[in-house]
Amino acid sequence: MQAAAPKKRKRTSTTAPKAAPPEHDDDTQNLLPPAPTSTKRKRVSKKAKELDTTAFRIPRVQSPWKVGAHVSARGGVENAVLNAAAIGANAFALFLKSQRKWEGPPLSSSSIRLFKERMKEYGYDPKHVLPHGNYLINLGNPDAAKRAKSYECFLDDLRRCEALGLKYYNFHPGSTVGNTTPEESIQDIADSLNAAHKETEGIVTVLENMAGAGNVIGSTFAQPSSHSWRTRRASACASIRAMRTL
Ligand SMILES: [Zn+2]
Repeated sequence: MQAAAPKKRKRTSTTAPKAAPPEHDDDTQNLLPPAPTSTKRKRVSKKAKELDTTAFRIPRVQSPWKVGAHVSARGGVENAVLNAAAIGANAFALFLKSQRKWEGPPLSSSSIRLFKERMKEYGYDPKHVLPHGNYLINLGNPDAAKRAKSYECFLDDLRRCEALGLKYYNFHPGSTVGNTTPEESIQDIADSLNAAHKETEGIVTVLENMAGAGNVIGSTFAQPSSHSWRTRRASACASIRAMRTL
């Protein structure tokens, strides 16, 4: 009886290490991620390259009212069309480049081609697409150098609209930045609009009505309709956010 007890302890201590690391030969392999995970990742990335667009063909509301959202253009402006279709939108907004950088890579020829193809494929009329301007643009800045930088960014956006065959372009009118009067700021914006209209063809600039913080232009309906604009091809847009504050 006394000799049997130590034998049982020995069996327990020798079987335990075999059961714990059954598939590992050394300590290094225990630190690596399991092999099946890396195999799965490779399979997903291959499928992702072949985009299945059938998922974007969901029923769309048939209505003269155009309802949509500002959709993501991540990966290229052509993807905005798919993102709009995926939520059943019959109109949509998008950024034409990064909204918080002065410059962005030029639209590639394949992006332009795919955008136009998908617009037709998914039945979107260009006049139901409203690109949103870069947030940095301030055509009402009294500082001439800063206003010129804004104008270049603004013009670049308009040329992207032209390249994509779009008709409208929505932007925040601007701000006095506290250094000039609203009237002078509006005149500077109008001058920039007239110059941009001469350099482009057919794009209608849409002035977004603003919520009205500090020195921002466009917080009252009187400002967008000011005679100071003296510009053609400009329209006014009241955003939902602005309407809520009125
Ligand atoms: Zn806006």
